[in-house]
Amino acid sequence: MSRFFSPKYSSLKPYTPGEQPKEMQYIKLNTNESPFPPSGKAQEAAAKAAASLQLYSDPTCKMTTHALAKTLDVDPDEVLLTNGSDEILNFAFMAFCDDHTPAAFADITYGFYSVFAQINNLPYKIIPLKEDFTIDTGDYFGLNSTIFIANPNAPTGIALSRDQIEEILQKNPNNVVVIDEAYVDFGGESCVPLIKKYDNLLVTQTFSKSRSMAGARLGFGVGCKALIADLNAIKYSTNPYNVNSMTLAAGYGTLCDPDYTAANCKTIIENREKTAAELKKLGFEMTNSKTNFLFAKHPDLDGEALYLELKRRGILVRHFNTPRISSYNRITVGTREQMQTLIQTIQAILEEQA
Ligand code: PMP
Repeated sequence: MSRFFSPKYSSLKPYTPGEQPKEMQYIKLNTNESPFPPSGKAQEAAAKAAASLQLYSDPTCKMTTHALAKTLDVDPDEVLLTNGSDEILNFAFMAFCDDHTPAAFADITYGFYSVFAQINNLPYKIIPLKEDFTIDTGDYFGLNSTIFIANPNAPTGIALSRDQIEEILQKNPNNVVVIDEAYVDFGGESCVPLIKKYDNLLVTQTFSKSRSMAGARLGFGVGCKALIADLNAIKYSTNPYNVNSMTLAAGYGTLCDPDYTAANCKTIIENREKTAAELKKLGFEMTNSKTNFLFAKHPDLDGEALYLELKRRGILVRHFNTPRISSYNRITVGTREQMQTLIQTIQAILEEQA
């Protein structure tokens, strides 16, 4: 740290992204990316947009916003595209939390929520998940806070139903409830249809997972016009050109190819279920994941030791050295071949240990 770094950041603990090693070819099951390339339409559109990079991108993101609004069956001014969904989440912390309205989120959830609260100097309440890592919706009634819920949750993969979220919305009519649906396309129930009914609901989603565009950084928020206008005020006060033109073009291309996205999601769900069954046969215990990852532990294997041993053998998974979940690993669901290699490798580790 330099002597110039403001002391207001002295206790800031930045988010630690999953490893992105370039020196060795790992089977990469650690950051919940898609194992499939982006749609050919996305690749073509991005390449075409590259020829005009001397110009600023469209700050209104008009073409892609309109296509997305059509896909979601909402109005274009009920949507805001951002640089990954991380950006819209940060905007939501900036826009809807302050000293009188703290943020509230689970103890085990997306690690960036507490970082966004800290960097914006915002108070926050931690709501512990139940013993089995499910959410007790009653814990979220009348919180007088801006609520952030990842649904399905990460890294547990467990989903709440739309009815359960609706109850939380009804019990917090004077507070914004942000539902982070980064993984919803792998079996969750989206709350986007509820934005017409609840002016306190903001849903965020991403192109990083089901739409195979993690490297392009495209996310979005969906909510009533007034909420989106607030978030636009933050965007135009920080970075009006927040989404670059190649990414906007790729996003448009992806939206023109819904069958490709749907087919990939179906494959991932099938691979998830097969892998879960195989891991169970090997003695693993798992949460009921509705995402593109599994959250698993083995009674005879230390969580961190398994992570390190898999890494040594060329497979990267994600281990969190945090209370309550240190015996688990989060394993991204990849191709069938990748999952077969994972299962064989774990089998070998277990046999060597026996
Ligand atoms: N929410 C959750 C729950 C996530 O796991 C992630 C991915 N790390 C994000 C949001 C952010 O994803 P992105 O910025 O790539 O859209």
